[in-house]
Amino acid sequence: MTQLRFTQKGTKSSIRARNDVLVLQCVAAAGSRFARSDVARHTGLPAATVSEIVADLIERRLVREGGRQAQRVGKPRVLLELDDTHHLFVGVQVTGGRVHASRLTLTGRVEQIATAPHQPGEVTPSVIAKTVRQLLRDTDEGSVAGIGVAVPGIVGDDGLIRAAVNYDWSMLPMGPQISELCDGLPVHVVNDANAVALSEVALSVDSAGTVVVIWIGTGVGAGIVLDGRLYRGAEFRSGEIGHVDAGVSLRCRCGLIGCLETIAAQPSIHGDADEAVVGRYLAGADDAEVRALGERVTRAARELARLLSTLAGTLDVTQFILGGPMTSDPLGPALVRHVNEALALRVMSGFAPLTLRFSTLGTHSVVFGAAAHAIRQELGVMVAMTSDATERDQIPTGVR
Ligand SMILES: [Zn+2]
Repeated sequence: MTQLRFTQKGTKSSIRARNDVLVLQCVAAAGSRFARSDVARHTGLPAATVSEIVADLIERRLVREGGRQAQRVGKPRVLLELDDTHHLFVGVQVTGGRVHASRLTLTGRVEQIATAPHQPGEVTPSVIAKTVRQLLRDTDEGSVAGIGVAVPGIVGDDGLIRAAVNYDWSMLPMGPQISELCDGLPVHVVNDANAVALSEVALSVDSAGTVVVIWIGTGVGAGIVLDGRLYRGAEFRSGEIGHVDAGVSLRCRCGLIGCLETIAAQPSIHGDADEAVVGRYLAGADDAEVRALGERVTRAARELARLLSTLAGTLDVTQFILGGPMTSDPLGPALVRHVNEALALRVMSGFAPLTLRFSTLGTHSVVFGAAAHAIRQELGVMVAMTSDATERDQIPTGVR
């Protein structure tokens, strides 16, 4: 059982609302194992209060009575579970050349997917809203509780994208504009690396966990969840690690010299190597082009490992997660292996080794995390979702 806590942005501030969140979080974390008496014991709330709150949550169709558990004496225990038949959420990912949206239930079951190809310069709030509206056209009115949109860039609390270089977005009120085009549905915008970090927490048994995601794509970033809460920093720029000094002399697109992105972003690692060179590298060939690619991979791995050990020393994290386009890149496994080899050399005596692993759902992590973000913002809880990446890969595209 995980530690119960209030998330920073619940829906209301009264004690009753806080207790609602506490009970809902308890039921969500227990996953069909708790009766009302267990909820009372775990939350410390009086049994009568729990019964009253559960009745209300059932009426709001957030919780339902599930299985019965026989007891030696007395009536069977009625187990509680999340009601995933009513409230729907949408997770949206905006990534190079594509808007991808999924409609999910409260427990993370994907019902429908919509994708639309676009050039980065063509992606606007109205393009995103159009994809979302397609996805929602056969849903009942009032069933969609919130939309989470994951985007690259620096995102404020208010759905305002402060800056996203690749999309030429600056001070763009993404959340409010999509909401206006989607009948006023609540829209919550989140940075994509942060979305991956939230998906890892939602999929873990520990909803109060600490997760650091390293995002590698066109740029390099990090998503940080500390004790179950997204850490966004003083100006929403937490995780902007792509522009830390990596001690090289290359000029970065930000104007500075020697940024980590210049050697560890996906295009920097690939350099001029085409598919054939990558194939020869993976097959263990030895020629000038393969050696040059190999050097770029190990150089990126070395600097990433250096950064991870700094983060580990700062935050006391031992496991890091790779998210973003690099998770589906053929060079991804080699990069992760080299990072782990470099990290293994820096283990302090008596402490667990630092490791980097792939995100649980690979490329689907972003959409999933965006939906988890919307659920948390709307209900104040981090719902423990269940998912199967393989199954998810096979979901047919419902609408285009
Ligand atoms: Zn830079």
